[in-house]
Amino acid sequence: MARLADIGVKKFLIASAVRAIIAQRLVRKLCPVCKEPAILDEREMRMLNFDPVQEMNHTIYGPGGCEQCRNKGYKGRMGIFEILEVDDEVRHMINKNLTSPQLRKRARELGMRTLREDGIRKVQAGMTSASEVISVTMSDKD
Ligand SMILES: [Zn+2]
Repeated sequence: MARLADIGVKKFLIASAVRAIIAQRLVRKLCPVCKEPAILDEREMRMLNFDPVQEMNHTIYGPGGCEQCRNKGYKGRMGIFEILEVDDEVRHMINKNLTSPQLRKRARELGMRTLREDGIRKVQAGMTSASEVISVTMSDKD
């Protein structure tokens, strides 16, 4: 949104024309042949907001190494996403000239899942590792 305004698109046009805004980062996918159950350290738990008790329900995986992945432990990439749907309320916020942090805060209240949260779901599903998600979402505050 801020980018569009920066390059000179009028706010009212952004508000009326944009349907959704998607942020994406790429993470490496764990090699399915050799991924191994992993135990997160304290820092990783903290950075991903993991509740140790709740995490008993998931097996978290980390990279192994095999011929299939040339010993890298990863094979291929996938996106993690953050999607802001521009509904009437968001449209109203754009027109009121709310700043990006304000908009983000409100979008969170309305249920938007952040890049990191989407990444966490994919870590819990065993598709990628905690360190991948942490490294590509380092700059996300929440
Ligand atoms: Zn492998």
